[in-house]
Amino acid sequence: MSVTTRKPESSETRVTSYRAAVVHEFGAPLSVEEVPARALEPGQIRVRVEASGLCHTDIHAANGDWPVKPEPPFIPGHEGVGPVVELGPGVREVAIGDRVAMPWLGYACGTCDHCISGWETLCLEQENMGYSIDGSFGEYAVAYARYVVKVPDGIDPLDAAPLTCAGVTTYKAVKVAGTRSSDLVAVFGVGGLGHLAIQYAAIAGGRVIAVDLIDEKLELARELGAEFTINATKQDPVEAIQELGGADQAIALAVSPRAFEQAYGSLRRGGKLVFVALPADNEVTLPIFETVLNGITIVGSIVGTRTDLREVFELHGAGKTHVIREQRSLDQVNESIADVEVGRVAARIVFEL
Ligand SMILES: [Zn+2]
Ligand SMILES: [Zn+2]
Repeated sequence: MSVTTRKPESSETRVTSYRAAVVHEFGAPLSVEEVPARALEPGQIRVRVEASGLCHTDIHAANGDWPVKPEPPFIPGHEGVGPVVELGPGVREVAIGDRVAMPWLGYACGTCDHCISGWETLCLEQENMGYSIDGSFGEYAVAYARYVVKVPDGIDPLDAAPLTCAGVTTYKAVKVAGTRSSDLVAVFGVGGLGHLAIQYAAIAGGRVIAVDLIDEKLELARELGAEFTINATKQDPVEAIQELGGADQAIALAVSPRAFEQAYGSLRRGGKLVFVALPADNEVTLPIFETVLNGITIVGSIVGTRTDLREVFELHGAGKTHVIREQRSLDQVNESIADVEVGRVAARIVFEL
């Protein structure tokens, strides 16, 4: 009898270095440069990035905007998608050639109360792609095999990228909101996240009100299933939504505390406000008296689990969602960040690697 030798674990020649967009200093332009490839540790895989979306979080990371900061130099990006090209020791979850998505939740402990109760996104040991560990703004990225999600055949990697953060985050927010048929759902902010939130709220049976400051975005919202649209520069969204009876749920996706306050004001009695966006300005003023008397629920929702992302891909594969995106090259990373900051993009920018 012959003994078969184990086939090599990489189908491509070993990667020694690759091009990536690196943050060297908060607030400074990213530098697109050649970086050395790290050796894989147990449980890790190397992915050849085909597409990586630009999320507002990447911009906050590059600017060092939040209380918990990443440590430069680092590579942002947490919407990376591509085939697995190398397996580290002990990897069983994926095989060479599988196309995977590398979400914000790059690693969790797998054993704490949060992890074992389906709330791995709350794990205190978590690592985040493009923040505490290098992300997908590069030709390659290293990820933990257990925390990537396979992208089903037939889904365009350029669609899969925005679904990996914008999609799963808003899908989970609608789950957390508890939207049911006939509920009135107000979505504040129609960008990379909002354009998907509208679709998930409609899929859940909600009647959607989209609020934004830009008419073109509201037009897009209508095309994607919003029944009502409000331009907050021309009309008071609180008044307009109260006239419709008040929202059962409001989802705050705009990076402005003012929008959070308006979202709160738009609720009907017993309504629920879901905090999702993370404005650099970290304070919001909400009344206690009305919250108590009106039985208002306020809840934060952070990204989603691997199961949520699988469901997001399933819906997309079934043709139930549309991703609005604009392809760019990684060399355009700095102008792309500038465009997102002033709202000069229809929805999501995706870098094609
Ligand atoms: Zn994100
Ligand atoms: Zn854990």
